[in-house]
Amino acid sequence: MNFAELGLAAPLLQALDGLGYQTPTPVQAQAIPAVLAGRDLMAAAQTGTGKTAGFALPLLQRLAADETKVGSNCIRALVLVPTRELAEQVNASFRQYGEHLAVGCYAAYGGVSINPQMMRLRRGVDILVATPGRLLDLFRQNAVKFKEVQALVLDEADRMLDLGFADELDTLFAALPRKRQTLLFSATFSEEIRSLARGRLRDPLSIEVSPRNSTAKAVKQWVVPVDKKRKTELFLFMLKDRQWQQVLVFVKTKKGADELVARLQAKKIAADAIHGDRPQASRLRALESFKAGEVQILVATDVAARGLDIDDLPQVVNFDLPIVAEDYIHRIGRTGRAGASGEAISLVCADEAPLLGAIEALIKQTLSRDEEPGFEPDHRVPATGGAAPAPKKPKKPKTGGGRGVPGNWVGFDDGARPARRNTGRGKAPGRGGAR
Ligand code: AMP
Repeated sequence: MNFAELGLAAPLLQALDGLGYQTPTPVQAQAIPAVLAGRDLMAAAQTGTGKTAGFALPLLQRLAADETKVGSNCIRALVLVPTRELAEQVNASFRQYGEHLAVGCYAAYGGVSINPQMMRLRRGVDILVATPGRLLDLFRQNAVKFKEVQALVLDEADRMLDLGFADELDTLFAALPRKRQTLLFSATFSEEIRSLARGRLRDPLSIEVSPRNSTAKAVKQWVVPVDKKRKTELFLFMLKDRQWQQVLVFVKTKKGADELVARLQAKKIAADAIHGDRPQASRLRALESFKAGEVQILVATDVAARGLDIDDLPQVVNFDLPIVAEDYIHRIGRTGRAGASGEAISLVCADEAPLLGAIEALIKQTLSRDEEPGFEPDHRVPATGGAAPAPKKPKKPKTGGGRGVPGNWVGFDDGARPARRNTGRGKAPGRGGAR
């Protein structure tokens, strides 16, 4: 199966060729022909599965084929995403794939001045990628009109609900034309997601693809037990000993991220942090410097890092384990992307045993433990996995065949799927990815 067989036109094939994409991923093979045919879609797929191209390629083709010029302040397709970083990333993907087409795209999100966004929208935009909060601000100020919208994409819909965007989404749905194509992507299909979709999708094709790394086929993962107070020392040792080139390090808190960066910089190691307290511009700068190889160690908190696309990253280190087990899968998904291999190493102290247990229950495997000589912990990390009572069991994801979910599910992988995080629907402090 190749991209031409999926019905994509020459300008898109040329762009894909330039990017080195040869074979469609499972989600692309399913989504592209269906979206080209005008169908609605309900897809269980996460970052790392190639879902962005799955919706971007056919939408570009459909918009390019319909040569109507977009009206002032109007948009022809709307892509809603949970965070600013994802907005930038999805917009960049549209630009890459649409390089040889005359289809304009633009990203609008909160945390930056609204005026340039209002100015740009005056000329009309074919594809607008936006976070819900800012989009609603723009809509309320008449800077964006929805009457020409033909297609709506909800990307990482579960994440949007987690971030407290349910009300904004309801308002936006009420304002959008009823006659439109709707594509919904979500990691899992909770009852909230199903009720979001209910009545808003027309006979959708359902696709289910487990995340590329859920079973960690391409990622070697292990745990290094260590005392909490020696984590930095151990990290520095491993960095040197293993000659790691570039590492994405995950920590629990913003303060922890800044502290680790300060300690690395004190050792003259090029390190930077990405977390919600840093202004958007410096977050993007840190990410760009990391991608360019100028920064060796990028220290990130979970929310800031979700959805980041960094190619061929060999190492991910969990300096702290995530509080929400599902984030483990997102974290290690930063390595071993698109078929490349990678390593995910977790530095685990005794206090974190319950978190480790929850992760192991979620991924349905007990991670191997490999003590680093000289760093054996004084406080033993209690046994987890089969040897210990399972800590709070994550909710089993409800997928295909459940109430309200259209049939037609196509499974590609039998790997574990993450359970939905249990954060409720309350407003999170960092709406629009501000955390
Ligand atoms: P996504 O899940 O959309 O975030 O994509 C994950 C990564 O896979 C991105 O770096 C894409 O550029 C890459 N990718 C997507 N589709 C393909 C493909 N068919 N072949 C190779 N790489 C791909």
